Amino acid sequence: MEHREYQELLELHALNALDVSEARLLEEHLDSCAECRDELIKLLDAANLLAHTATPVEPRPEIRARIMASIRAENQRNQPAASSSASVVPLKARAERNIWTIGLRLAAGIAFVALLIGIIVFWRRDVKMRQEIAQLSRQVNTQEHELARDRDVLGRQREALALLNSPAAKKMELAGTLTQSTRGTFVYDQKTGRAILMAEGLPATPADKAYEIWFIPKGHSPMPGRIFTVDASGHAMLPTQMPAEAMEGATVAITLEPKKGSAVPTGTIYLSSPSS
Ligand SMILES: [Zn+2]
Repeated sequence: MEHREYQELLELHALNALDVSEARLLEEHLDSCAECRDELIKLLDAANLLAHTATPVEPRPEIRARIMASIRAENQRNQPAASSSASVVPLKARAERNIWTIGLRLAAGIAFVALLIGIIVFWRRDVKMRQEIAQLSRQVNTQEHELARDRDVLGRQREALALLNSPAAKKMELAGTLTQSTRGTFVYDQKTGRAILMAEGLPATPADKAYEIWFIPKGHSPMPGRIFTVDASGHAMLPTQMPAEAMEGATVAITLEPKKGSAVPTGTIYLSSPSS
């Protein structure tokens, strides 16, 4: 692999999403590449911050493999076709692609066998077998949902990492107004306003309520932002957008509001940045 390919692995490495052999290859490269080492240190700083506020995902090996495969496919699509080197496929990549191909063929084989069994069973009208088929298909559905969810969480973490690592990022600490264990970080890109809210220690969201973000530019009334709920451990990680009016400096606060959100804050303030 070349330096550029290793660079693409750094983010995943910082998120602990590489498999053992990939991590080992990357570490060998790091021994000889100061640029990648520096980049990794920055990414690890950012990932540390994420670790505090994001719910850890530990995708099962096969799900991780499928996510990696889709990231690779995406990277390949994004690369313009190089003139002479286009036909040269690195040995490792080729070996891995073979594994994916075998995996996909196996999965297709399994699906085909399940289909055949289904046809025979319908023909014989064997109710018990039919129930088993239904259960198998439910399991497949569940796995697809899990895969989509893991991919979503990993995607959001990668996005957050990229934002945290951007030179235009500005970070604001949000302090709990009721207890010190409620904390948050709001990071936004000073050029684009792309932002991310990370919060921890928020009480479970009541069924009829939602948390709401507020932007309060100096001398303005509070502007409503996105509403959100927290996961079982009181964490939230939410991509959002800083309003243009708030880009020059604003207080960011979180309140608890009715489920559909409010136009003006009505509930308890749980988190706030220092007044600007
Ligand atoms: Zn390098």
